[in-house]
Amino acid sequence: MTEYQKTYIDLKKQFEKTEGGPDSIRALYTFKEELEQSEDRRAKEALVDVYDLLDFKKDAYDLLSQIGDRSDRRTLKRLGALKDYAENWGNHYAVPRPKTPEEKQQEREKWAALGLPSFRYHPDPMKTGAFQESKEGVPCDCCGKTTHVFYTAPFFSVEDVEYLCPACIAGGEAARKYDGSFQDDCSVDEGVEDPAKLDELIHRTPGYCGWQQEYWRAHCGDFCAFLGYAGARELRALGALDEALDDPMWDGEQKEMIRKSVNGGHLQCYLFQCLHCGKHLVWMDFD
Ligand SMILES: [Zn+2]
Ligand SMILES: [Zn+2]
Repeated sequence: MTEYQKTYIDLKKQFEKTEGGPDSIRALYTFKEELEQSEDRRAKEALVDVYDLLDFKKDAYDLLSQIGDRSDRRTLKRLGALKDYAENWGNHYAVPRPKTPEEKQQEREKWAALGLPSFRYHPDPMKTGAFQESKEGVPCDCCGKTTHVFYTAPFFSVEDVEYLCPACIAGGEAARKYDGSFQDDCSVDEGVEDPAKLDELIHRTPGYCGWQQEYWRAHCGDFCAFLGYAGARELRALGALDEALDDPMWDGEQKEMIRKSVNGGHLQCYLFQCLHCGKHLVWMDFD
């Protein structure tokens, strides 16, 4: 066994033990970058394993096609299996490298400098893709000012609105001017008595993109924070799968579907977290 393989096996053990914990994924990424710099054939062999584990299926297939010994039956078998994945998935489902707390803080500062306020019910709208960055800047339809961060998720209004800046959403101007909303007020959990909370959610909070009608979860008498798009793997990595399944919203069959969901797949989960007790909840739908 080569040193590379030994390192790979140690990292894989850590990855499996922590069910894809952020430190274990970052360590695999560091190793991947090291291996990518090396011309050593044994490094390349280990790199196929790293790609495969992190679901860079296309990269794994391409590399093994280059370096694999086709007279070896095991290699041929593996190439066959990887080819199917590579053709169907590409690198689409690759495990993303989790950001360190310092990187997250730097990003928050950057977005704040570009005018992104904090949204109680949607705390990281750059990560979820509710806003996108524009280097050149685009004009906000509502206030007319140039914004370098613009809204991309649904806004329900009669008029077509192309660009909204975060300030016009947070301040409620966009919802007032166009008599619009960011979330259907009927598609929310019951149990939130305070009408000001519903007003904040539907008129001053960026929404998200579901396959079907977006639905907002609530817990402890308040709406939850939308954290982003997830499948079972992302839920496990956060240690949130058991919590998400411990929910009277879902029957046995639906729980099984949540367990099998893949982020970006036919069955999509949307992850929420209670702002009061911290419990994770999901919504799910199909394409
Ligand atoms: Zn604006
Ligand atoms: Zn709660």
